[in-house]
Amino acid sequence: MQKNVTSDKSMITRVMTRDGSAMLVVINSTEIVKKAADIHRLSHTMTAVLGRALTATSMMGSLLKDKSHSLTLQLKGDGPGGSVVCVSDYSGNVRGHVQNPQTDLPPNAYGKIDVGGAVGNGNLYVIKDLGLNEPYVGLSPIVSGEIAEDITEYYASSEQTPSVCALGVRVSEQHKCFAAGGFLLQLMPGADESVITKLEDNIRNIKSVSQLIADGFSGDEIAREVLSGIEYDIFDYIDVEYKCTCSREKYEGALLSLGATELSELAQDPRGIETVCHFCNSKYNFSSEELQSMVMYLNNKKQ
Ligand SMILES: [Zn+2]
Repeated sequence: MQKNVTSDKSMITRVMTRDGSAMLVVINSTEIVKKAADIHRLSHTMTAVLGRALTATSMMGSLLKDKSHSLTLQLKGDGPGGSVVCVSDYSGNVRGHVQNPQTDLPPNAYGKIDVGGAVGNGNLYVIKDLGLNEPYVGLSPIVSGEIAEDITEYYASSEQTPSVCALGVRVSEQHKCFAAGGFLLQLMPGADESVITKLEDNIRNIKSVSQLIADGFSGDEIAREVLSGIEYDIFDYIDVEYKCTCSREKYEGALLSLGATELSELAQDPRGIETVCHFCNSKYNFSSEELQSMVMYLNNKKQ
């Protein structure tokens, strides 16, 4: 079973070892990162920062169990890139936002894009909305700011799940992303020791995931590298994309939640107001008349 990535979609491949010791999610997220870079006009450095975060969030989101669930990854570091927020639905469709999209740093000591420098020190938060009254909030300190290591640390310390996360984003001189992807490997409870040793060997010897994607490796081929010498089954492929969930109705709801007093102040401006979605830059305009009728609606509801 082999599936090629269609031109405008990214793709997740989900794999399980035959003995149930480990689960592997692989993503080619090149199209997601390209779209994010376009929407936010990301610098070279921030394409890698948001690109890696979106790649991780999509894989983490694809592990959610129900259609109504969503997962938010927040990196709140003190680096010049500012905070990073990404949200995934249960099938891995993502959207994201960075505080300072134009921040650009010189390469780090290894000649690589300085993702860790842009993110800085602070905390990583994972918020899962599982349709309960309170969302689940997990947190771990940012270890390196390189994001993959931080996700690995998060799963170990906050969810007690031994994991290996690898992320890579390649950006050309023209600030265009030409390869992005990653994998997330998780051990299941009671994982077989010999499988663990084999996985550790494979991970140690594998090329970087961005190199594999740049070399044209498919999800299947990356799984073959990570799980070399281990029997496994590919159980599905999911098309994923950069996708926002905003709508005029959602903004209308947000405006109504401001309350009658604040809304009537906004309605004073004859030009009305323009709201802008910070995930996709969609603009929604509300005229002064519309705002006034929303105030009337709220006042009527009160009586
Ligand atoms: Zn939007």
